[in-house]
Amino acid sequence: MKTFECGTLVPGCDWKTSNENEADVVQHAVQHLKAVHEEHHIRPSIVEAIKQRIKDTDSEAS
Ligand SMILES: [Zn+2]
Repeated sequence: MKTFECGTLVPGCDWKTSNENEADVVQHAVQHLKAVHEEHHIRPSIVEAIKQRIKDTDSEAS
């Protein structure tokens, strides 16, 4: 499972999203940034920043 916590990018935000598919996590994160943080122009650098902050949270492995 891949998890993105918005607080790692936007301090103070406790929103997060998880999905098996990293592309879906990025998609949800971009939608959240647009809707909640008014990032209407999603730059490639923001997508890269999201990808760098996605964590592997496979609970069965631990
Ligand atoms: Zn947020």
